[in-house]
Amino acid sequence: MVIRGGVAALPGEADLVRVDLRVIEGRIAGLGKGIAPAVDEPVVEAKGLAVFPGAIDPHVHFDTPGFEQREDFRHGSMAAARGGVTTVIDMPCTSLPPATTVENLKEKLRAIEGQSVVDFALFGGISGSLAEESLARHMAELAPFVVGFKCYFLSGMESFTRVDHRTFARAVAKAAELGRPLLLHAEDYDYVTAATRAIRGEAGVPGGSKPGAAGAASAGDAAGGESWADYVASRPEAAELTAAASALALARGCEASLHVVHVGTAAAAELLAAGGATCETCPHYLAFSSADFERLGSALKTAPPVKSPGEAERLWRLLQEGRIAFVASDHAPAPFEEKHTGSVWTDYGGIPGTGTLFPYLYSEGLRAGRLDLPRFLEVIASGAAARYGLAARKGSIEIGKDADLALVDPQASRIVRGEELLSKGRITPFEGMRLRGEVVKTFVRGALVWDAPAQPERRGGSSGIVAPPGHGRHLAWGYR
Ligand SMILES: [Zn+2]
Repeated sequence: MVIRGGVAALPGEADLVRVDLRVIEGRIAGLGKGIAPAVDEPVVEAKGLAVFPGAIDPHVHFDTPGFEQREDFRHGSMAAARGGVTTVIDMPCTSLPPATTVENLKEKLRAIEGQSVVDFALFGGISGSLAEESLARHMAELAPFVVGFKCYFLSGMESFTRVDHRTFARAVAKAAELGRPLLLHAEDYDYVTAATRAIRGEAGVPGGSKPGAAGAASAGDAAGGESWADYVASRPEAAELTAAASALALARGCEASLHVVHVGTAAAAELLAAGGATCETCPHYLAFSSADFERLGSALKTAPPVKSPGEAERLWRLLQEGRIAFVASDHAPAPFEEKHTGSVWTDYGGIPGTGTLFPYLYSEGLRAGRLDLPRFLEVIASGAAARYGLAARKGSIEIGKDADLALVDPQASRIVRGEELLSKGRITPFEGMRLRGEVVKTFVRGALVWDAPAQPERRGGSSGIVAPPGHGRHLAWGYR
């Protein structure tokens, strides 16, 4: 196949370059001006389009198997492809069973089989309730199948519990020994527990990011605050900063193996970067502040919550400087009933995001001038590929790499509609936002997966997805 007539985003280039691409057996085999297609070689006309490396979304909760009323790999991966994402990395905590042992991981892989339209890798989990066994055995057994491990300082999930500080210190050392990063949900347990109790009275049991089989305290027994400001006050910047500082202290000597997920507090990101660890942020922390809760309500609820006005601007700057390594969606939708329980404390903390990750960053990062092109490419793809052992074949447009591509019409613009995201989750804080550019085609290993239809389909369709479910492959660390 030859993709001709477009401009492409090549690593190291300050601007898009007029170049054609030849793809052979799913890999980029040629890059140059005026590549002439052979007689039977298919041609994709890309005149007027910009060719980007397919985005990597290194933090999704696709919930297969176990919580598929919220999301599943088929819908999640379709939403990803529609938004220019060609590889996702799925979290271990929001499936049943959680991916804490090789047996559980294999069960998950069997459940995913035949579902994904994009490539995927997995994280292994360290749940507090199984930590000793994880350290003794499961982490080492999982390592060949996963690109990192994940644990929580604060969790609202009964099926995946928090680790204490000592366990965390041992886990990060073990991860370093195994050559994998340890990902951490960094909010301080002590702070959030005390703050939640103080605000809610005795009903206060802090919820984690993704309530699992059983949620936190049920609605209606709240003795205290019930406003969004109360929820935000229970998990402030200080809770995130304290957790980041603790994590660095506990990871001493293994800082390079520490990666903190979904950071919304600029000071925490600065601290982690200075201490030799990495972190990610998410589009919602860049786009919104706690002031938006009044307008958006639970459509904006995540854990950690979005932070005070002013933080987003600082996060953009840290992203451009490279002190925040990359951006992930933390895609974690939930159905209407779970997002509207009648209490800010029990409404599900999570939003769909994989479908808006690349479009948002393209529009508000690259096109708005907050990110230059080389940083944009690291932020959307090559940064995560390097961190998670996938860079040999993923993350950039280079000869020999997989032909994972997102073709963007820079002249188009699109208003985000939750109903058109192809995810099971349709409640998004980005609803109604106009974004510059439109992903018109997405290729995964040279195969067309998303081909934008003339009319977007609404409510649960899959029009525009032209690859069969199951096209996506499982990628392990060192994939080549
Ligand atoms: Zn998450």
